[in-house]
Amino acid sequence: MKKTNRVCAMCGRPEGKDLKVISVFDSLNLCTDCISYIDTVRDTQLSQEKKDTKKKDGGSIPKPREIKEFLDQYVIGQEEAKKYLSVAVYNHYKRINQKGDDDIDIEKSNVVLVGPTGTGKTLLAKSIARLLDVPFTIVDATVLTEAGYVGEDIESLLTRLLQACDYDVERAERGIVFIDEIDKIARKGDNPSITRDVSGEGVQQGLLKLLEGSVVLVPPNGGRKHPEQKMIPVDTKNILFICGGAFDGIERKIAARLNTHVVGYGHDEKSRKQQRENLMRFVMPGDLKSFGLIPEIIGRLPVLTSLEPLDRDALRRILTEPKNAITRQYKKLFETDGVELVFEDSALDAVVDKAIEYKLGARGLRSIVETVMVDPMFEVPSSGDKSFIVTGDFVNSQLEKAHFGKMEIK
Ligand code: ADP
Repeated sequence: MKKTNRVCAMCGRPEGKDLKVISVFDSLNLCTDCISYIDTVRDTQLSQEKKDTKKKDGGSIPKPREIKEFLDQYVIGQEEAKKYLSVAVYNHYKRINQKGDDDIDIEKSNVVLVGPTGTGKTLLAKSIARLLDVPFTIVDATVLTEAGYVGEDIESLLTRLLQACDYDVERAERGIVFIDEIDKIARKGDNPSITRDVSGEGVQQGLLKLLEGSVVLVPPNGGRKHPEQKMIPVDTKNILFICGGAFDGIERKIAARLNTHVVGYGHDEKSRKQQRENLMRFVMPGDLKSFGLIPEIIGRLPVLTSLEPLDRDALRRILTEPKNAITRQYKKLFETDGVELVFEDSALDAVVDKAIEYKLGARGLRSIVETVMVDPMFEVPSSGDKSFIVTGDFVNSQLEKAHFGKMEIK
């Protein structure tokens, strides 16, 4: 039987002395020239894709006003903090994209957000990361300890950033790290050398290295470093650090500096709250120092802004206005079952009343709505109903039934 020469399916040339044709799949023959051509095209495409991702990560940075408008969709109120953060982020990425053709070095604009818990500090940082499409991670400062002590090495906070982007070091190096509870690693007392201050100054010293920008060896799986583990070098020069803390009692420091008195228990709750809000606006780096943060750390967190406690009006808006507001989420869940879900105004008021009564803040709104909606979520899908209306009475009766007030709420 005569052997038939294989023909390249792409260029149509037959196999010969000068041309090798390989059978790629059972019925597909390609010559080696065409295979190497395909390889080149694929490599070019891959590198272009990588460039595009990089561009997305840092190429076209939205203007501060655009950043704020984006934040407005997710975070209610906190105008001051949004403005500061928008400018800081804009400058940070401008700095990253800076051409090194003059001597002016724009300094890194790490941020510290001071404000009561549950007022939107994490949400702000998370929303920024979402806008810029950069890797983002949240770390609790209290789990970090100085090397050699029980807890996590400081470098492990970069492990989480690496994990957030599948260990793409280049992307991680332009990411955002949110360090929560930065106030909890405050130095205790003025003389840390008497008793070794494991959770305080040592950690701050360690953090300093990351904040100012240096190449750090990161354990790929976090936790403690051990000698046989292969470390990943990560440059923190272009990582934006946003720190958050409640700094409980800081208004007293501010008041002392401003030479005013914080009103005491003789005054009503409202005027005390109002004063706290007003004083917080005047927070200065020095106030953090008198709270226990070391001056070097404060120096590396040049953007300082405060968040206000959320009042009734803000809580009410949080229930319905943000793009992913909790009531919207429930409406969507019901919609997929073909059921229209309606929250009456009285229902929203009742939810806010409970959040205020139990001092739960914005974080409590979700747990209240979840408690209220358990029964309807269980019943409605099989009821055949086309709509469900949540009233104020329904909210109150569901919470009563669930013994909401008696549950331990964290
Ligand atoms: P913290 O200030 O303690 O970091 P978070 O940002 O984690 O508070 O807020 C907890 C939750 O409360 C958020 O997930 C969000 O649902 C809600 N929340 C808090 N503040 C706001 C706000 N200003 N606007 C919209 N939602 C908020």
